[in-house]
Amino acid sequence: MTEDHYTTMRHRMVETQIAARGVSDPRVLAAMTKVPRHRFIPHHLWDQAYNDYPLPIGEDQTISQPYIVALMTEMLELQDTDRVLEIGTGSGYQAAILAELAAQVFTMDRVASLLTQAEQIFTLLGYSNIKTRVGDGTLGWPEAMPFEAIIVTAGAPQVPRPLTEQLALGGRLVIPVGDRWSQTLTCVRKTKEGLKFEYHGGCRFVRLIGEHGWQEAGWT
Ligand code: SAH
Repeated sequence: MTEDHYTTMRHRMVETQIAARGVSDPRVLAAMTKVPRHRFIPHHLWDQAYNDYPLPIGEDQTISQPYIVALMTEMLELQDTDRVLEIGTGSGYQAAILAELAAQVFTMDRVASLLTQAEQIFTLLGYSNIKTRVGDGTLGWPEAMPFEAIIVTAGAPQVPRPLTEQLALGGRLVIPVGDRWSQTLTCVRKTKEGLKFEYHGGCRFVRLIGEHGWQEAGWT
């Protein structure tokens, strides 16, 4: 398949899976139209890159369904001066979408081999505003705080306290919270009066494993 073919499929994805389901922020739609999602997944899956479901990326992890990426990004209400923290780099696709919309992206994963692959694609595609780190993202990235936006792309049993602490005043944290099988997309906003919670429907993510997440051992 040619790059033109992928571009056509990407436009169709934005129209039929994302705009059609109510994501309307023009900057988010433009980023989803621009970033070549196929580049972030294993080559043998490229022909499925623009389909309406998550895909395996190795290490038992998945790249999220395109609609969920767009919805969570819209919930972050990004401005082009924002500094964003992402927990769960995975393929790097969500980080690239964030890099289109914010000034600086900080992204962490606990699996070093996934980060190495993602870094190679960031370089290949010319993203110079993404910083990466290996480690337990439930502890956040204290040296780089505060963040105007934080996104967690793994399912958490509760909102990790270090992350709300590292949010700027007026900042937004988007995180799936629930049990191992299903979670609710949750937006936590830091206001002068305290934390405000909003809920945006169900989703299913791989587990967030760490000090303020799930324990490593156990069945899924
Ligand atoms: N945003 C990714 C998808 C993430 S899949 C994308 O666009 O492709 C979830 C990722 O969260 C996995 O890569 C997993 O290794 C990572 N993860 C799970 N627990 C973590 C933790 N405590 N800290 C950092 N990353 C974590």
